Amino acid sequence: MENSVRDTVILGTGCSGLTAAIYTGRANLKPLVVEGHEPGGQLSITTLVENFPGFPDGIQGPELIEHMRKQAARFGAEYMYGHLVSADLTQRPFKLNFGNKTIESQTLIIASGASARWLELPSEQALIGNGVSSCATCDGFFFKGHPITVIGGGDSAMEEALFLSRFATKVTVIHRRDHFRASKIMLDRARKHEKIEFLLDTVVEEVNDVAKKEVTSLKLRNIKTGKVWDFPTSAMFLGIGHIPNAKMFQGQLDMDQDGYLKTHDYVFTNVPGVFASGDVQDRRYRQAITAAGTGCAAAMEVEKFLEEHGG
Ligand code: NAP
Repeated sequence: MENSVRDTVILGTGCSGLTAAIYTGRANLKPLVVEGHEPGGQLSITTLVENFPGFPDGIQGPELIEHMRKQAARFGAEYMYGHLVSADLTQRPFKLNFGNKTIESQTLIIASGASARWLELPSEQALIGNGVSSCATCDGFFFKGHPITVIGGGDSAMEEALFLSRFATKVTVIHRRDHFRASKIMLDRARKHEKIEFLLDTVVEEVNDVAKKEVTSLKLRNIKTGKVWDFPTSAMFLGIGHIPNAKMFQGQLDMDQDGYLKTHDYVFTNVPGVFASGDVQDRRYRQAITAAGTGCAAAMEVEKFLEEHGG
């Protein structure tokens, strides 16, 4: 399969990549869909999705993704595990280097999403998987019956706190300001929850205890009063946003100051034949439905591009 030039390669199996796969599949372009180290994207690590149209009672994120995968496969999408090391977008067919193989393609849809952001404290990094996590749905269960901490003030942090309240004796949301980015409905739900409490204007300076290979407490600092103290907890979950997965295109594709791919007219990058959709190019909406929408647009532009420029 890797010896022939593909019509289109789609990077990413989140909501956006899979929607692009459904559309390019139905256009008979036999898309090759590359699955990276976070298969299914953000939806696969979330719980109940209540705002995706068509599901009056909501749907579990992983189930929604599984439906999309099957739907794309039905129309001829092929899946491949791979990590894009580098890409040559200077001429068509584009050359995509996956380390063990190079794939050539006439067009490319980048739907590689965005990955969880970390605090980047050495003690935090040392304890990832041992009490430090960015995925409540993956790791929450391990802390059943223990106090848990969530960092952040956006919807992700509220969602994690609400989910973790099923397991924890108490969930403490630690936020560096006293204003929230979270939507009112999510914030209100968290505020009303009897097991959830908030520590505001507070930052984490260190995660203890690296020597014990478990989380026992957090060294916290109140940024207004300067007070520093040790806060006992069994786990720290990060809900502080995401970083776009586009580093491998540095120097070839235009990006903004935070590394999001710059697009015009929804999905066009600065290289003809290369389109970007979903969270890797959208820092404003970042919703499943908008990711699906731009995935659809990218697929339709690929079709048009191949008609105009030949395969
Ligand atoms: P976000 O809205 O960007 O919020 C990130 C939060 O983390 C902010 O409160 C930010 O603080 C804090 N933060 C960032 N870097 C930090 C650091 N180094 N140390 C401490 N705190 C830090 O990100 P998000 O919550 O992941 O949400 C992203 C998008 O997805 C939003 O559009 C959201 O509505 C959507 N979403 C929706 C749902 C849902 O509807 N169910 C669930 C999850 C996400 P500052 O405020 O001080 O910058």
